[in-house]
Amino acid sequence: MSKRDYYDVLGVSRSTSTEEIKKAYRKLAIKYHPDKNPDDKSAEDKFKEAAEAYEVLSNPEKKQRYDHYGHAGVGGASGGGGYGGGGMNMEDIFSQFGDIFGSGGGGSPFESFFGGGQQSRGGRRVSKGTNLRIKVKLTLEEIANGAEKKIKVNKQIVCKTCDGTGAKDRSSVSTCKTCGGSGAVRRVTNTILGQMQTTSTCPNCNGSGTQITAKCGSCHGEGVVRGEETITINIPAGVSDGMQLSMSGKGNAAPNGGIPGDLIILIEEIPHETLKREGNNVVYDLHVSIIDAALGYSAEVPTIDGKAKIKIEPGTQSGKLLRLKGKGIPEINSYHRGDEIIHINIWTPKALSAEERTILERLRESPNFKPQPGKNDKSFFEKMKEYFE
Ligand SMILES: [Zn+2]
Ligand SMILES: [Zn+2]
Repeated sequence: MSKRDYYDVLGVSRSTSTEEIKKAYRKLAIKYHPDKNPDDKSAEDKFKEAAEAYEVLSNPEKKQRYDHYGHAGVGGASGGGGYGGGGMNMEDIFSQFGDIFGSGGGGSPFESFFGGGQQSRGGRRVSKGTNLRIKVKLTLEEIANGAEKKIKVNKQIVCKTCDGTGAKDRSSVSTCKTCGGSGAVRRVTNTILGQMQTTSTCPNCNGSGTQITAKCGSCHGEGVVRGEETITINIPAGVSDGMQLSMSGKGNAAPNGGIPGDLIILIEEIPHETLKREGNNVVYDLHVSIIDAALGYSAEVPTIDGKAKIKIEPGTQSGKLLRLKGKGIPEINSYHRGDEIIHINIWTPKALSAEERTILERLRESPNFKPQPGKNDKSFFEKMKEYFE
């Protein structure tokens, strides 16, 4: 397996400063972080490759050997680094360079990787921005067709003045005096079992390996400021009220260059004026006059895609359900689409003129106007069940 040039891997030149090398590595490490790229083997390989390059180039002695002899100069058991011919494993990377992600409390993004609860191993600390929650209101038409929403969000963003470092300028960043830049301190304690050596996060720099002598004026050393970002959200067709979508990395920026939080989008459905949603179907109540129901006619009904004509047969009874196939809401992440169901309501006049009354009185005695329900007519609930199954 031939190895790529370490300078190419990090995208830096031979004359690049240690601080710049660290920055370049941090960028790659965040980009290819396993938490951001779950089950992505190529991202994992890149993550390892970057760590290996950084392990050599961040160490002045190894860097010198590499500059003279290339990979041969640093391969094998070259001491101290814990990396052999086979490259570094994930645990080595996190225990040695976890601190590269910055410091801070909160949940560690490595937890999920290691199965949780081991975030303090080797003293590494990672900051993660908090999740941000917003509400998006959608019409039934937007829900049926999917929607792209551009939303201005108020949130923590990376400080532009200091590029998230929290330092006033380059000269105000120096190697931490307490840990010499390693980010970790060794402590020897006497216990009943004898002397024990422990490694923990450097308390001075919180594991970053650097200390800031003058803070950035814009963010007061936090690396993040309050700001606005316009985020484009693509909402798939078929979402429903109360559903939550999440956009990874679009939440609040983390202090000191950590991993940003997620944006959680809560869906709110604006009720439609005439159509009622029932799962993936929509229901419309159509009111039909006694005359139209008796004679039959062509009715116009609203649908999600505009108006549609529907034939009302002569002799249509109240409570009848008609179906417009495929005129409902698409099932999320599927080609299946619900129907529009039209519920017929026969409208009985509430007021009559003297003339209308006379006409109806004459019709009253006609046998055709006497109700003649069939013995086998389905009940309302049977019909509903049939239509919504
Ligand atoms: Zn700043
Ligand atoms: Zn330190």
